[in-house]
Amino acid sequence: MSNITVCARFRPLSSKERRDHGDGVCIRCMDTETFILKDEKEEDIIFSFDRVFCEKSGQAEVYEFLVLPIVRDAVNGINGTIITYGQTGAGKTYSIEGPGILECGEQKKGILPRVVDGIFEHNKPDKMAKYSIKLSMVEIYMEKIRDLFDLSKDNIQIKESKIEGILLSGATEMSIIDPAEALQSLSTGIANRAVGETQMNTASSRSHCIYIFTVQQELTGDKRMKTGKLVLVDLAGSEKVEKTGAEGRALEEAKMINKSLSALGNVINALTCGSGRANHIPYRDSKLTRILQDALGGNSRTALLCCCSPSVSNASESLSTLRFGARAK
Ligand code: ADP
Ligand code: MG
Repeated sequence: MSNITVCARFRPLSSKERRDHGDGVCIRCMDTETFILKDEKEEDIIFSFDRVFCEKSGQAEVYEFLVLPIVRDAVNGINGTIITYGQTGAGKTYSIEGPGILECGEQKKGILPRVVDGIFEHNKPDKMAKYSIKLSMVEIYMEKIRDLFDLSKDNIQIKESKIEGILLSGATEMSIIDPAEALQSLSTGIANRAVGETQMNTASSRSHCIYIFTVQQELTGDKRMKTGKLVLVDLAGSEKVEKTGAEGRALEEAKMINKSLSALGNVINALTCGSGRANHIPYRDSKLTRILQDALGGNSRTALLCCCSPSVSNASESLSTLRFGARAK
């Protein structure tokens, strides 16, 4: 049985898509799992995922189906990963952060603030256990890992420890005491990402942003610790870069992104196709998959949200996003 839940999410048409291409949509949802994409040749391609969220689906629905089970596991010491995949503008960041991390109201708030609420709700301190919650935020750009809580740390190395698993050596870990503080830290990290972008003249859509919550539970009268890691990944845009158009840094960026996204696809594929025997999982092919190693494999749970534009003008990018998702099943 696969530990990977794959969902698709279609955002509403943007005003630009409406203006330039009218109301043409390439997607039709049949039920909660099945949907049809009309490709550029007007052919119908049927997909069946664990769940499809259409444009009317709200943030709460996505959280409850895709994320809440992983939060419940994480507070019980089981690692989990939530990944958003799709072309730039498809709704990855909207799904993860919501329209803003601090104030966007109950209805529109994204996965992150809901995860924060969920973690604190599920581990109300009781007499038996003591919890400690930590948060790290890093960005991978051109295969280099940068600490979003301390921009001077721009080449973080990945280490592996037998006890603690995969570690980001020297990356800042914020101790989180309550939900308000967690949101404050997240908003600092997100603001730093924008500062770094301006400094380096890059766009956030060209880097992967990774949020790591570590929930440690110390049972009183028991020396053992239970640690669950919950990782959220807002991936770089998956769009194909025009072979002729891109040159210089844009081309280098595109190559790196391609390489890490296909490494992710290969790892997920190796995990889902795994026979009874221990097969080789190519975690070491990219920084992204290496960081995710202990939150993707083993008994951990993974959720993949394939974000798409519904517009006919983006049909071919949506198709390639959905094929990535279908391959992960
Ligand atoms: P990405 O991170 O994939 O590049 P964004 O999340 O920034 O894309 O979304 C692009 C635009 O579409 C943003 O203006 C965002 O607010 C809007 N958007 C995305 N998803 C939704 C949605 N489900 N409902 C309403 N607006 C959305
Ligand atoms: Mg984004």
